Amino acid sequence: MSVKPAASSSIKTVNPATNKIEKQFDVMSDQQIEQILATADAAFQQWKKTPFAGRAKLLHKVAAILRDRQDELGKLCTIEMGKLHAEGVGEVRLCADIFDYYADHGERFLADKPLETGIGSAFLSYDPIGVLLSVQPWNFPFYQITRSAAPNIMAGNTMVLKHASNVPQCAAIMERIFIDAGAPAGVYTNLFVPGAKVSQLIGDKRIKGVSLTGSEAAGSSFAAEAGKHVKKSTLELGGSDAFVVLADADLDLAVKTAALGRLWNAGQVCVSPKRIIVLEDVAEAFIAKARAIYENIRIGDPLDPSTQLAPLSSEKAAEEIVQQVATAVKDGATLVYGGHRVDRPGAYMEPTILTNIKPGTAAYAEEIFGPVLCIYAVKDEAQAIALANDSIFGLGGTVFGADTAKAVAVARQIDTGMVYINHTTGIAPELPFGGTKNSGYGREQSPAGIHEFVNEKLIRITTPDAPY
Ligand code: NAP
Repeated sequence: MSVKPAASSSIKTVNPATNKIEKQFDVMSDQQIEQILATADAAFQQWKKTPFAGRAKLLHKVAAILRDRQDELGKLCTIEMGKLHAEGVGEVRLCADIFDYYADHGERFLADKPLETGIGSAFLSYDPIGVLLSVQPWNFPFYQITRSAAPNIMAGNTMVLKHASNVPQCAAIMERIFIDAGAPAGVYTNLFVPGAKVSQLIGDKRIKGVSLTGSEAAGSSFAAEAGKHVKKSTLELGGSDAFVVLADADLDLAVKTAALGRLWNAGQVCVSPKRIIVLEDVAEAFIAKARAIYENIRIGDPLDPSTQLAPLSSEKAAEEIVQQVATAVKDGATLVYGGHRVDRPGAYMEPTILTNIKPGTAAYAEEIFGPVLCIYAVKDEAQAIALANDSIFGLGGTVFGADTAKAVAVARQIDTGMVYINHTTGIAPELPFGGTKNSGYGREQSPAGIHEFVNEKLIRITTPDAPY
């Protein structure tokens, strides 16, 4: 898709390490969008008939290109949304693994499923449904696209992708990679449109399913629009993961895992350990150890391999998080460390520790999408579980403890979509990712991810004289 600079466009790269505009893109016209949807729809008619082996070949090729270009693509993530270069490279490698995973296993996941029935025989076939609209956020510019695109394109659907407006180069290059890998026109297409255009797209009759990863506010209006048009939707929204430290946990290991885990992607991860829950008798030691880690964190250029904490994604994001911390303090929380902007150009913020956050305040209830470690002290395990569940969100979570059977028993009582024992909530192609409560619905990755946007069609072989 050819693009040219537009002075007034909101679709642009602003390097968060410098706050300089690097590149701008035109918003697409209605005519361009119409052509893209028509091409995607026409492509579906052929792509659904392409054997699994042909679809797998495309996905493997995409994976190979991603691996070949991992350094360059990782750098592009850094330039567009600020993450550490090593994190960007790791993300691109993960994407390659996800493409390979669905290429290797997709056909088996979608094989006909025989059903037990008293009369005759029956089975389910899994048919692709058409053009999907995928709306994605900026925090993992390649991974977010991948976990939506890989299973669905393997399933025989085609996709139009509306990425966040601050990562347009990543968005454009992904389309290019699909083309270079041999994708027929319309199988995967990037749309340069603002969020405000999305409801119109949902209503288009050629769009058969819609998926959004992002904030609760965007998800709510997105799903309402999908409901209005009776379209299947999935939502991957915000989270406020609890990190429960049990009495038998190795405290040093727990502190390190939580404190450094919270700084991954400058704290801008839906499954970051946002609420650390420790027992009262170790709380003081835990806080002191976390503070010692944050005092020694190297903040700096995200392209410098020695940097540990990158800038946030934008000036606006940094200002918002500093303001959230200030409000928490005004509402009675204790600022143990950080909480301020860093005195250098770019969207930097100090690593921050808050304690004594009171129920009923904004900091207690809201997701904090930045490098802020909130530590809660509780008197026992029952209170820890109650606090972990006292959230509108239900995405991930961690239970940290030496006795893993005991940790699993606690994990069973936490109402989120994922709980990791002795690790912050993680990601693997073969494991499902998704939430419950206001964190959304539906699953990505794993066999479940390829079943979201297929028609589970019953085919029954019977006779006219069968009673039903
Ligand atoms: P956001 O504002 O909701 O944006 C996400 C995407 O939705 C962007 O492409 C955005 O486009 C678009 N958008 C915004 N408003 C929309 C609307 N009303 N209708 C349709 N589309 C709309 O999200 P964000 O604040 O940038 O991203 C961070 C959030 O995403 C956090 O809450 C985080 O926890 C969540 N997240 C969740 C997961 C998960 O798997 N559960 C993963 C990553 C992030 P524009 O950029 O053009 O506005």
